Amino acid sequence: CYLTDAVSALGIDVAAFPEPLPRDGELSVGLIRAAFGFPEPAHAAAQADVPGRPPALCPGCPHRLVFKELSRCKAIVTGDIGCYTLGALPPLSAMDTCVDMGASVSMAHGFELAFAGREHRPVVAVIGDSTFAHSGLSSLISTVYNKGAGTVCILDNRTTAMTGRQGNPFNGETLQHRPSRELDMEGVLKALGIEDVRTVDPHDARAVRRALKEATSATDTLSVIVFRAPCVLLERHREPAFEVSSQCTACGVCITLGCPAISKDESTGQALIDRDMCIGCGQCAQYCARGFIVQD
Ligand code: SF4
Ligand code: SF4
Repeated sequence: CYLTDAVSALGIDVAAFPEPLPRDGELSVGLIRAAFGFPEPAHAAAQADVPGRPPALCPGCPHRLVFKELSRCKAIVTGDIGCYTLGALPPLSAMDTCVDMGASVSMAHGFELAFAGREHRPVVAVIGDSTFAHSGLSSLISTVYNKGAGTVCILDNRTTAMTGRQGNPFNGETLQHRPSRELDMEGVLKALGIEDVRTVDPHDARAVRRALKEATSATDTLSVIVFRAPCVLLERHREPAFEVSSQCTACGVCITLGCPAISKDESTGQALIDRDMCIGCGQCAQYCARGFIVQD
């Protein structure tokens, strides 16, 4: 393995493991124990009745409403690598492809070329701020250069959330959280020659809906929407929790947001909000047409 080779290259004899470690795959506890000649730990069978707990966007996540509205407008969504890839999972189910970093933008360009001259659903690329800095920029340059159309959404949560909240070129911090130069995202987009650039608060459902509608209605131009609000784990800001009135009609709309703090009362079908999990973002209240979700 890498360490064995590196230490051997220093002229130090490295004792061989009784069982060689594999050169690929993950180093599980069992593999490491086997390499040292110990028996693998016994596996316990999981209980059959354990409820599924699929991963979900955090309560108050600034990406949630973008995926909710993309789902509503039936867009073809080319996604990218980041915490926001969870938008692919139910109940949001609003991501159709996810290949590698930067592929959201180039795949959207490809879809637009394949659909050229035909009626089609809106094509929308979704990419986070750090992935955009990493490899979305080069894809977008290619789209501009080749006169591509479509809409690119940059989910700027001011950090690289998936890997532990590191800095990136668009939020003015180095990986080690030291102050750095902050690239002006909208300025960079304008400098690339993109005329339709708008900045939107992703916690505002109406603003998200309007921006997506306007951007995707122009079928022959390239538009970019920057949805900017900090990751909830970054500021750990908390407002008073919301609660559901007893008048709830059990329509289930708020539950389709997939906030982990909202669940359904199995006996009445009404929505329930877990006060300990709710961070008071107010997103769900914007989807209850009856106004039955209110802040404490
Ligand atoms: S206000 Fe609603 S959407 Fe926001 S965290 Fe609380 S339950 Fe979730
Ligand atoms: S949207 Fe309103 S009425 Fe519908 S389930 Fe949620 S709280 Fe109840």
